[in-house]
Amino acid sequence: MQRGRLLVAPGVCLYNKNCMSVPASQMWTVATYVLRQKLAGRKRYPLVLMLEPLFRCNLACAGCGKIQYPAHVLKRQLTPEECFRAVDECGAPAVSIPGGEPLMHPQIAEIVAGIVARKKYVYLCTNALLLEEKLHLFTPSKYLSFSVHVDGQREHHDFSVCREGGYDLAIRGIKAALARGFRVTTNTTLFDGADPNSVRAFFDEMMELGVEGMMLSPGYSYDKAPDQQHFLGRARTRRLFRAILSNRKPQWKFNMSPLFAEFLMGRRNFACTPWGMPTYNVFGWQKPCYLLQDGYADTFAELLAETEWSNYGTESGNPKCANCMVHSGYEASSVDFGFGSLKGLFAMSKASLFKSYPDEDAKALLNEEYKPVHSYNPLVQIKTAQESQA
Ligand code: SF4
Repeated sequence: MQRGRLLVAPGVCLYNKNCMSVPASQMWTVATYVLRQKLAGRKRYPLVLMLEPLFRCNLACAGCGKIQYPAHVLKRQLTPEECFRAVDECGAPAVSIPGGEPLMHPQIAEIVAGIVARKKYVYLCTNALLLEEKLHLFTPSKYLSFSVHVDGQREHHDFSVCREGGYDLAIRGIKAALARGFRVTTNTTLFDGADPNSVRAFFDEMMELGVEGMMLSPGYSYDKAPDQQHFLGRARTRRLFRAILSNRKPQWKFNMSPLFAEFLMGRRNFACTPWGMPTYNVFGWQKPCYLLQDGYADTFAELLAETEWSNYGTESGNPKCANCMVHSGYEASSVDFGFGSLKGLFAMSKASLFKSYPDEDAKALLNEEYKPVHSYNPLVQIKTAQESQA
């Protein structure tokens, strides 16, 4: 499961501070950064560094391709110095810290503090099982957000993460973080069989809790994921997101580019720009993206120079990319388009201002009968590597 995805883009209403899901300072930082890259004539530039300090996790989700590594890999982790070197080398204005579960890293507070000190916007992606007990290690800052993995309403989330009680613990962590003044967002991965009505009700729940914004992504079919049956193809992804994101309630706030949301709904198309969200982990700089592993580079410059980028993306004909619509490939594309031309700026402003997307056909999709996977499949609690060894 792609859990640590991005989240920096301007999913904001520019004119009403009550509907902002990304602070203006963050949006300004991203906008001026992109403009600088454009003025410098850089064709490929990073927007968000995906920094994976470890692959260990205290969950073992059926749709995840990260925690299936052998024990000797799961034991490895990046040092704070390695993390800082990657942040400095990459230069992206935002850093997403997925995993694994980053809160299991013994030096995670030092890593986060060092990146915040560099004035990078950090999204610490967590399943929140440890959030409440680790909160005291962190200091609230406009540069730090906890991006809590919640895949939907209680029953759906517990099924998705293969852990009964996972939802309640995540909500408890969210409440505790909000009470201590932290920025909190959610990240949600949707698989085939997701009930759009339930997802919309989930949006209401998160807004009532007071989260800053929600980030959505379709699941990507990792080769290593135990559950290979429920990944979405492109047509089904567009249908699902059209049902979910059309006829939006005004109170819903999303922590993602409005143009990326339109891409998911099938309203526009983008080519993949995997260099926009490069991944650094215990193996090095991963080629070409967060999802695929076609080798590693020692430096970010080497990654940019030596990856055969034309072999990737839907248009490339690469079967591994055929159904992919995930953030790490396409959200940076939407931000690049949004800031890259007057046409893009107009489209982004329009999408930020007129975000209800009235659509009668999408309403009809909500009346269809959905059979959520958890309604005919029992929840199978998969053991984590640590539990299996015990
Ligand atoms: S389309 Fe291919 S290269 Fe692009 S993010 Fe998806 S899997 Fe990675």
